[in-house]
Amino acid sequence: MTEDDIESHIVDILNALKDLKEDVSKEELEKELEKFMEYGVPIDQAKQTLIKKFGGSVKFGSSATSSERTLIADLESNERSVNLLGHIIAINPKEITVKGENRQIFYGILGDESGTIQFTAWKDIEVEKGDVIEISNAYTREWQGEPQLNFGDRVSIKKTDVERLPKSAFEPKEFKMGDLKSGLGRVEVTARVLELNERETEVDGEKKNVFSGVIGDETGKTQFTSWHDFKIKEGDVLKISGGYVKTWKGIPQLTFDEKASVKKLDKSKMPKDKIKTGKMPLHRLVEKRGALDVEVEGTIIDIRPGSGFIIRCPECNRVLQNDECTIHGKVDGKPDLRIKMVVDDGTGAITGVLNQKLTEKILGKTLEECKKMDDDDLVSKMNKQLFARRINMKGNALGDNFGTTFIPKDAELLDVKVEEEAEKLSEDLEELR
Ligand SMILES: [Zn+2]
Repeated sequence: MTEDDIESHIVDILNALKDLKEDVSKEELEKELEKFMEYGVPIDQAKQTLIKKFGGSVKFGSSATSSERTLIADLESNERSVNLLGHIIAINPKEITVKGENRQIFYGILGDESGTIQFTAWKDIEVEKGDVIEISNAYTREWQGEPQLNFGDRVSIKKTDVERLPKSAFEPKEFKMGDLKSGLGRVEVTARVLELNERETEVDGEKKNVFSGVIGDETGKTQFTSWHDFKIKEGDVLKISGGYVKTWKGIPQLTFDEKASVKKLDKSKMPKDKIKTGKMPLHRLVEKRGALDVEVEGTIIDIRPGSGFIIRCPECNRVLQNDECTIHGKVDGKPDLRIKMVVDDGTGAITGVLNQKLTEKILGKTLEECKKMDDDDLVSKMNKQLFARRINMKGNALGDNFGTTFIPKDAELLDVKVEEEAEKLSEDLEELR
């Protein structure tokens, strides 16, 4: 499309909007229209969408009778009725219990030329992966600051022709590990296989080998699952096109199958020493909710109840109350030690849970020594010893409705060297003069 063409379409749009009280800037329209063109949206549709968006009513053109379509990238939270056109990238059933009754709902990922989004269908919408569908009367809610698409009772879903979506809707888009989040579909990543496991599972009565593990690039690490044998080996550097992302407790999981393309690249494209444990400020971790193998640092501001010497159920690992497990009753418990601490770095706060080994290391006391101490005494000792100390932790972070919990594989108290800090500060001041 030439610039003149764009110009004439802009004039059309401005004409359609001329009765409005508020002025719409031409530059803004141009920018928006170009975005649609980049996505490959048909021009009539793009014009209608923009006119509607800026408050006008759609009258011109042959397609004026078709219902308004929203692009996935333009979806906002809490929209009561939206119409979409997209293709099913993934769909999985899930059993839930509502008011004591079992119900089947479906989770999936929908994609169009502008992006992808996670959806929940509250009834069986009878579609399969790969279907192109026309959706009317869907609604959105907000979840973790992002719009979430819902197909409720009023939704109507019709299968339609693949040709109605531009080719770009099916093309993979490149992502770095650090940017992967739930609801992304047709993702392309270049990453190194850091861990690999193979297991056998049954799909529709057939035995199938599933490959899973951890992949990483210079921005982070992600768990992956491959439903097809791409002959992947540990240490391989792969370009994976056509995967999709779900998250488990905030940790991204890249899933792909035989429809994806997996190419082995030269190993020097992603050297092992470039993949480090990334350090993350706590506000970023809280935003992402969870992460695999990251490093954080902050000040211990509280030791939480439940810290100290505990006894666990040997069957299920639950902490016993009065020698009893809520599930297994009276059991011969096994002793354990932990610290639950709130760590704050000035940008955000998380709860860190240290296991026995790390608790012993941080406290400088063994489990046996702690066992002999009175419970209250032990917790108050922990508080005295650890409050306001700086701690560095490396491990996994898991997010749920109550916040982010860090499970360190290693933890270390840092000596903040007051003199060094002061010296650094005076140097900085010197430079300012
Ligand atoms: Zn138990």
